[in-house]
Amino acid sequence: MPHKRKGMLLVVSGPSGAGKGTLCKRLLAADANFCFSVSATTRGPRAGEQHGADYHFLTEEVFQARVDAGEFLECAMVHGHRYGTPRREVLAMLDAGRDVLLDIDPQGARSVAAAMRDCVTVFILPPSFEALEKRLRHRGTEEEAEIARRLANGRRELDQLCSYQYAIINDAVDEATAQLLAVVTAERLRTVRFFPQIPQNL
Ligand code: 5GP
Repeated sequence: MPHKRKGMLLVVSGPSGAGKGTLCKRLLAADANFCFSVSATTRGPRAGEQHGADYHFLTEEVFQARVDAGEFLECAMVHGHRYGTPRREVLAMLDAGRDVLLDIDPQGARSVAAAMRDCVTVFILPPSFEALEKRLRHRGTEEEAEIARRLANGRRELDQLCSYQYAIINDAVDEATAQLLAVVTAERLRTVRFFPQIPQNL
């Protein structure tokens, strides 16, 4: 039966170092209907990060002007910097039938879940705190104080786990990717996203 599908909003959160970024990249590579919502942030770019692809890197003033203009679906202060999800782009992609992936923190996830009832929320967990610390150090993108701050925030973020619909432990990345893809497959079949076009002659 021919049908029209509404785009799915997939919200992925988890502590820094849990491997969210890798899982998000794998989902985007495996599924052409997904697109990534590029957030705005006031933090500076890390080596290799590109403006417009990883984030829209904004000054405090420009970020605040966008907040005042209502341009963010949600925004939050995370690890001492501001981050925001662009409202217009996300809604336009969903309207066009694209699935949209948000990699945002639990405060943002809560706001999005309140505003967009059909969204799907997934929390990515590290296998242990030791593993989290090791990954953050191995990544080598943060200073020591920033690592300590992200670890402390990670412990607090774990308290939010129960407000998510799904939890994936990222112990082995292939298995975690398969689990994320399984969530997407199941969620696509939910009747809320499915509008069958019943032929008039039935
Ligand atoms: P990072 O600085 O490591 O790229 O991201 C730090 C945290 O900010 C991550 O937990 C990431 O999910 C979150 N984040 C990224 N973009 C947004 C956003 O637009 N809104 C919110 N609330 N959090 C975000």
